[in-house]
Amino acid sequence: ENTRRPIIAGNWKMNLNHFEANLLVQKLAASLTEQQLADVEVAVLPPFTDLRTVQTAVDGDKLSIVYGAQDISRHKGGAYTGEIAGSMLEKLGCSYVLAGHSERREYHEESDELVNAKVKAAFASNLTPILCVGEGLPIREEGTHVAHCTAQLDAGLAGLKPEQVKQVVIAYEPVWAIGTGKTATPEDAQEVCGAIRARLAEKYGAEIADAIRIQYGGSVKSANIASIMAQPDIDGALVGGASLDAEEFASMVRYRE
Ligand code: PEP
Repeated sequence: ENTRRPIIAGNWKMNLNHFEANLLVQKLAASLTEQQLADVEVAVLPPFTDLRTVQTAVDGDKLSIVYGAQDISRHKGGAYTGEIAGSMLEKLGCSYVLAGHSERREYHEESDELVNAKVKAAFASNLTPILCVGEGLPIREEGTHVAHCTAQLDAGLAGLKPEQVKQVVIAYEPVWAIGTGKTATPEDAQEVCGAIRARLAEKYGAEIADAIRIQYGGSVKSANIASIMAQPDIDGALVGGASLDAEEFASMVRYRE
């Protein structure tokens, strides 16, 4: 038994306008009880343009849904057209920010070095990074997925202080399972999440490794979340498609019931 509070986060990707975002968060808040929100941390990760909307929609809730961004600039500010600084996200009340999502690594050629810079930028603005790691299909077929993921982990956390590492959320997302409807088996997900925790223990000690929350992501939905959450080293889910439906997302939060 561990004392890690599960975290279920909805990555909206490039979906939902102001009106739709408002509706989704209102419905979500209405269908979750205070107890459910105390048991499981519920986060939404909307596009930048919906952050103010979400901030307003959850404002005043006692046990609130928290939120964050899908990306962050490595830079503090200045002449970086189109980028969003951590300080701007902090001002909008963000708690979390994704770093190294496979879609950023793939379509925006984000390197491990850039992902590490973004993790550091998050801490510089009091945001908690959700560091995503995961292998593509060729690496899975080759059988080197564990080494691939722990290398991404090492690179993403390079240069952090132990007390920062302790705060980080890690998301293991096999690329072949994202948006494909193909979920990793609970055993496959546990294999990598267990290896991630073992690696964290080796580098930072058991106390820190035991405190870190590790999510699984890749076609998680209400029908399969319970078996994934039952794994000893899985402390949450990073959810794409299934987070866009309030009822579906709320029933994922109630995975124990
Ligand atoms: C994701 O984008 O992080 C993700 C896991 O997507 P999906 O749930 O749609 O596979």
